Amino acid sequence: MKDTQALKDFLHTPRKIVITTHANPDADALGSSLGLHLFLTILGQHVNTIVPNSYPDFLEWMPGNSLVINYEKSREQSDKLLNEAELLFCLDYSGFGRIKDMKGVASSVNAKVALVDHHLNPEIKPDFNFWNDKSAATAELIFDLIINYGGKDTINQDIAECLYAGVMTDTGSFKHNSTTSKVHRMVADLIDLGADVNKVSRLIYDTNSLHRLKFLGHALAEKLQVIEDARVAYFVIGEEDFKDFRLKQGDTEGLVNYALSIKGMVVAAIIIERENEIKLSFRSIGDFAVNKFAEEYFSGGGHKNASGGMSELSLKETEKKFKELIKKDILKTRIK
Ligand code: 5GP
Ligand code: MN
Repeated sequence: MKDTQALKDFLHTPRKIVITTHANPDADALGSSLGLHLFLTILGQHVNTIVPNSYPDFLEWMPGNSLVINYEKSREQSDKLLNEAELLFCLDYSGFGRIKDMKGVASSVNAKVALVDHHLNPEIKPDFNFWNDKSAATAELIFDLIINYGGKDTINQDIAECLYAGVMTDTGSFKHNSTTSKVHRMVADLIDLGADVNKVSRLIYDTNSLHRLKFLGHALAEKLQVIEDARVAYFVIGEEDFKDFRLKQGDTEGLVNYALSIKGMVVAAIIIERENEIKLSFRSIGDFAVNKFAEEYFSGGGHKNASGGMSELSLKETEKKFKELIKKDILKTRIK
């Protein structure tokens, strides 16, 4: 956090700031963006938050949601803001490949760049660096930034709940290895500062539609596959499932964890067919690095035990490619 002072110096006068985060924003992406947005606004800065595309309904309760600009819907306004920005924040991503169509303009802005992220192998070369792959969530890094900035008094209930949402979801509700005592201390502070943890968890996890629950039953009964010898379990979800169950974006979130919860599994995946792309999510337990797997074969990345990528093949061909490669790589890892 050595760059906090430099950032503070840069912000001694109000600046035009644009906060950006990765495509298909999750609760950490959006929570850290809005937490920072609200904090910088209190400081008197001129702030806009632009996301590359839409996010699920269950994130719309977040304080500041109405301030978020969707690049796909407001391209002209977004390009103007990006081009005029003096400071660009990159939150929860560290390669411009993660921001879809925003990549062109965001990667060529004149603005200073501040990187706040916890993903491995950052590609962006920032002027202000708040990257740390040991952090459980970008929300944790934003919390540290605010504290080091001397801004603890500005953390109100809204900011506290945005940051809590990010850290709660990125730690899998405080279950992943990333859940350090420091994370719990931060959460204790957020509660003292007004975060209603029951409210946030209900808004994020307990807002299922009936369709979504019926889809969950269908996916578990019909779509879950196991490759016993490789200890891999995965789902393949086609476009027809989205139609049949009237699924919305975000309705498949968390499904992959059911595959990983089967006793003995070491890798889980979900392959999802959406409009004109195929998205893959990977999870693992232990040594198998799914970020390397995603990077090598599916133009993706992420963390050792949670990653994602994409495929331009058909759904069937993607499944075939996944099965072959995961078997090969898992067996190779065991031989070593
Ligand atoms: P999820 O499966 O929840 O979408 O993503 C799991 C993790 O992998 C997240 O940390 C996310 O940032 C990362 N990830 C997901 N999709 C991609 C991708 O297409 N490219 C990269 N580099 N990382 C991804
Ligand atoms: Mn994150």
